[in-house]
Amino acid sequence: MSYICLMAQPHPPTDQPVATYTGDARSGDGGAGDRPVLTSLSPSRASDFKSCPQLFKFRAIDRLEEPVTVYQARGTTAHLALQRLYSLPRGERTVDRLADLFREAWTELRGQDDYADLFETLDEERRWGVESLALLHNYFVMEDPRRIDPVGTELDLVEDLGGIVVRGILDRIDRLPDGRLVITDYKTGSAPPERYALPAFFALKIYALLVRRRFSETPAEVRLLYLDGPTLYRMPIDDPQLDAMDRQLRALWEAIERAIADDRFPPRPSRLCDWCSFRDRCPAFAEPSRVAV
Ligand code: SF4
Repeated sequence: MSYICLMAQPHPPTDQPVATYTGDARSGDGGAGDRPVLTSLSPSRASDFKSCPQLFKFRAIDRLEEPVTVYQARGTTAHLALQRLYSLPRGERTVDRLADLFREAWTELRGQDDYADLFETLDEERRWGVESLALLHNYFVMEDPRRIDPVGTELDLVEDLGGIVVRGILDRIDRLPDGRLVITDYKTGSAPPERYALPAFFALKIYALLVRRRFSETPAEVRLLYLDGPTLYRMPIDDPQLDAMDRQLRALWEAIERAIADDRFPPRPSRLCDWCSFRDRCPAFAEPSRVAV
């Protein structure tokens, strides 16, 4: 098995660790009509196309708005709090301080239009906050932030990988005491069962490619930290794996270009549909005959 699952492990030995989609496709200036042009690809949109080309189209080509959910609000707020935690001196990175940072971040976000109608009542919002703080408490079961000095957090990586431009924002990258680079991604949702965890690493392997290009160094490991659980999944990384990922990404890029040229983005129904914001306008549900097989 190429990945390791550690359930609720106390702090991994990470002393002194090391560190949108702004438009995957945009309208061309005339030329081949107004066909979109693929100029860059993010790991998230690459994952979308891989799991459902129609979902990719809704998000990347049509750029349809998606209402923010309470789960996304939790994820955004928690990521902000965790990023700010690492800007504090090591000794101040405590559970209580992280809770304060979460409250501060939410106070900033809740005033924005996207979040204005998220909760019907204050009680509902309060319950959401209490659940969120419980999840953040779990973070300390998996890592001790007082032993970590990241190389970077929320790192904006834009790299030309030899003809294809890939952009993504990486949660954190650390350098371990033995000199190896490790990439970490925080998840506020619950972890998939271990036997289904492999696809969750797809985007992280793209980040590993970006890191290899940026740092001229192959990261040793990618980690998925699921606060709900908590669950920590780890996958060792090496050059042959990243070379394979590079080939896969190029093939995906070509497939997206073909889909754009043919204007063909078949829906691919799956369990993902239960959470999809576009289900009510998806042809898979309106016209079942168009479903891809
Ligand atoms: S509802 Fe399902 S098939 Fe349709 S776009 Fe969303 S994920 Fe794809």
